[in-house]
Amino acid sequence: MTHDANCIFCKIIAGQIPSRKAYEDEELLAFHDINPWAPVHVLIIPKAHVATLSDTGPEHAAMLGRMLALAPRLMGELGVTNGYRTVINTGPDGGQEVYHLHMHVMGGPRPWLKG
Ligand code: 5GP
Ligand code: ZN
Repeated sequence: MTHDANCIFCKIIAGQIPSRKAYEDEELLAFHDINPWAPVHVLIIPKAHVATLSDTGPEHAAMLGRMLALAPRLMGELGVTNGYRTVINTGPDGGQEVYHLHMHVMGGPRPWLKG
């Protein structure tokens, strides 16, 4: 599986940086954002290193579908009952800070810090 030794999320996948995990399987990991914008804020990432959404192609379609399909299930498990927001920031103009593909899933009562 593709891995980037300098990537902070690859280090989280490898257990080299601790995280509060919400879900894990062979292909995906979900963990709580260290700097949450909302009462519940998790990041869903593929375990394979893919830098951005723009680096995905048809071969990633199933993985992307699984990332999206995980969101409602996780929000349910985490007690979010009144809706949530799913966001993928891509590239400099998209405000992406960590260059390992990730989907933000944010829920819980408003107001939120950002967004
Ligand atoms: P981006 O702006 O790239 O879409 O979002 C990156 C997110 O990763 C930010 O919300 C930031 O708080 C989160 N983040 C960055 N480093 C870490 C870390 O080491 N652990 C966790 N749990 N979240 C992180
Ligand atoms: Zn990575």
